[in-house]
Amino acid sequence: MPPILSNARLLAIAILSLGLLACQSETRLGSNAESQAAERPMPLLLISIDGFRHDYFDLAETPALDRLIDGGFKADSLHHVFPTKTFPTHYTVVTGRHPGTHGVVANSMWDPVRDQRFSLGNRDAVGDGYWYQAGEPIWVTAERQGMTAATFFWPGSEARINRIRPTYWKPYAGATPHAERIDQVLAWFDLPDAERPDLVTLYFSTVDSMGHRHGPRADAVRDAIIDVDSHLQDLLNGLDARGLLGNMHIIIVSDHGMSRVDFDQYIMLDEYLDLSRVTVSDWGPAAQIWATDMSAEEIFTALDGVHPNLRVWKRDDIPPRYRFGSHHRVPDVLAEADLEWMISNRPHMAGRSRFSLLGMHGWDPALLEMHGIALMHGPAFAPQTRAPAIRSIDLYALMTHLLGLEPADHEGSLAPFLPYLDADQPLQPETMALSCEQGEITLQLRRGPRHLALHHGQEVHVLDQADEHGQRYEEVDLLVDLGTDPIRVRMDEREWNDCLVVDNV
Ligand code: AMP
Ligand code: ZN
Ligand code: ZN
Repeated sequence: MPPILSNARLLAIAILSLGLLACQSETRLGSNAESQAAERPMPLLLISIDGFRHDYFDLAETPALDRLIDGGFKADSLHHVFPTKTFPTHYTVVTGRHPGTHGVVANSMWDPVRDQRFSLGNRDAVGDGYWYQAGEPIWVTAERQGMTAATFFWPGSEARINRIRPTYWKPYAGATPHAERIDQVLAWFDLPDAERPDLVTLYFSTVDSMGHRHGPRADAVRDAIIDVDSHLQDLLNGLDARGLLGNMHIIIVSDHGMSRVDFDQYIMLDEYLDLSRVTVSDWGPAAQIWATDMSAEEIFTALDGVHPNLRVWKRDDIPPRYRFGSHHRVPDVLAEADLEWMISNRPHMAGRSRFSLLGMHGWDPALLEMHGIALMHGPAFAPQTRAPAIRSIDLYALMTHLLGLEPADHEGSLAPFLPYLDADQPLQPETMALSCEQGEITLQLRRGPRHLALHHGQEVHVLDQADEHGQRYEEVDLLVDLGTDPIRVRMDEREWNDCLVVDNV
């Protein structure tokens, strides 16, 4: 379990950070901005490029993203939460809670208490705060503490959550031209001080849509990246012209990666289960199944072991690493397919073209193909800073810190970021190759000052430093102990006690 910071500790950190940011502002802003900046933290702009996989940077020239990367912090990738779907993962970024806690457990969900369904296309549901109220998004934290928030789209931002909406917000309209989004964000920053937002969100969906339609890394994905990047360049130029770039924080994330899917790799649930006797609230890489006319035990028995590319768990047996256990919207039975495999049913697939869907996401967040991106820019981050994979669950702690806010209860940690925030030198990760089982298994470690990413085959896990000396790293069901000789590594049920460093970069 990552340390959950107590409110008192976070408050102390927040107060410290206010001091730090105020100092930085004073040295970098002109004199008439000085007195005001001393009491008001610099604005934070949070941008999401939906479905931008961690490795898409080499697909296209991205001068705007490069400008931020050169001038700031880039993690190898962003480890998300289960399920790796737009609404659950975006809501985790802004709340610091797992989907099994914040309650947005899928893009399509069923609420057994209200006996209601939620789906992305259902405007009433998307705008209804009931679905989001188990997490406090950062715009609510900001507004509650007297700041002003503005959202040009973000899952949850249209709803009154515990009675609070961003001061400025937009009903979701996917066709809104990108230029209009950029112009509006710049216009928000042009507002008089009393109205100007402290926190702004911005969202782009086209990289994801092209990934679904044409497959990851397709030409159409590259074109979508080029288009988004060119609009980001307009945004950066606009911020620069206003003297803001360098005097604000910008965080760019994506909400998950993308994997290819294969028309011949669909598992049809109706071959094993009478679908009239259960409710399936979500399909795809994972299926969320409810016991209606059958018990959870009967559903489990009907699906367990029936297909080599399918795993199935009753709610209480879902791997702890998924942290998908507690909310009443977590289904009775969860079935998950292997990467590149999908769960569907014969009526749904009847007549579908094999080319109608070439990319998908939603699988285990540890799978590298599900990892997104994380870039940060602004006075808190030294240029050219590089980090191992980081976790999206920790971003709420970071963002409230940057804004000097007292965070609401959350499940992330600021700890992995603290060394970066304090550094006046660009930090770089250390890379170590480990060989275990007499060379049969190789693992790669990417070590930052307070956390470590463990790369193993298709999986990348993020572990927190668990001792003072930076020898022991832990997460649920994961351990890397560099202090033992030979080195000890545990991943889920797999354990290696004989690992040796074969390469240290
Ligand atoms: P996904 O396939 O999980 O990546 O979902 C991506 C889709 O979610 C986008 O193409 C949009 O259609 C939809 N979407 C994103 N943000 C919102 C929003 N705030 N409200 C409604 N739908 C949204
Ligand atoms: Zn998405
Ligand atoms: Zn998508």
